[in-house]
Amino acid sequence: MRFVVKGAEPACLTQVRREVDRIVDDSGQGLTTADWSELKDCAQPVRDALAFEQAHLCAYCMGRLRTTGHHDVTNPSGMKIEHFVPRSVQPAQMFQWSNLLGVCSGRTVIQQGTHDTCDRVRGNRPLHINPARRPPDPAACFSYRRDGTIVGLSPEAHDDIVTLNLNADPLRNARAAAIAHVQKELRRDDTVANLRRLHRQASSPNTSGELPPYAGAVAAYITKKLRARGVET
Ligand SMILES: [Zn+2]
Repeated sequence: MRFVVKGAEPACLTQVRREVDRIVDDSGQGLTTADWSELKDCAQPVRDALAFEQAHLCAYCMGRLRTTGHHDVTNPSGMKIEHFVPRSVQPAQMFQWSNLLGVCSGRTVIQQGTHDTCDRVRGNRPLHINPARRPPDPAACFSYRRDGTIVGLSPEAHDDIVTLNLNADPLRNARAAAIAHVQKELRRDDTVANLRRLHRQASSPNTSGELPPYAGAVAAYITKKLRARGVET
């Protein structure tokens, strides 16, 4: 995970919240999970804004977000709008920008089977580490092994790894491949200057506003290498 700096919400979300507040006032009843459908045409602007502030990476697994189109049966790889505090737990937070995150579809199908992660496997279980709120800094709550395993540095972080199934084979393999790619670059040139360049690539979005998938694992790997040479990032 990486800390997500929440920017301004899309104007249409402010509008939706106003309309929903009016419905609640008129009916005298609180929001229910079904009221999420009131988002309507604002769904795409919300997806775009979430993807932008997350450098086009899933807030939980750091896989690539695909923003085109709503996640449904016809578009199974589409991104989802996730509620950090689930709708069913606190319906009042349903349209709060600070509670919204962009997440991947949470399903990878490989030869060995189907692997569910992130929101899809979480259900409505609570999470402790909020990618969009610190302390604690989400990036500092996890470390990575060279084989791509993500390790929680606190009992809470460990719990969240289990809840989100972040050590599912496809994720572990993808992180290992991202680290292996950097190792290959370092065999060619392992100067501090090159380490710094690779660290920048893994921590600062490019001109399209994107970070490479699994950049968190790569950034942590390079930070360790730099520290070993007495250089702080
Ligand atoms: Zn994900």
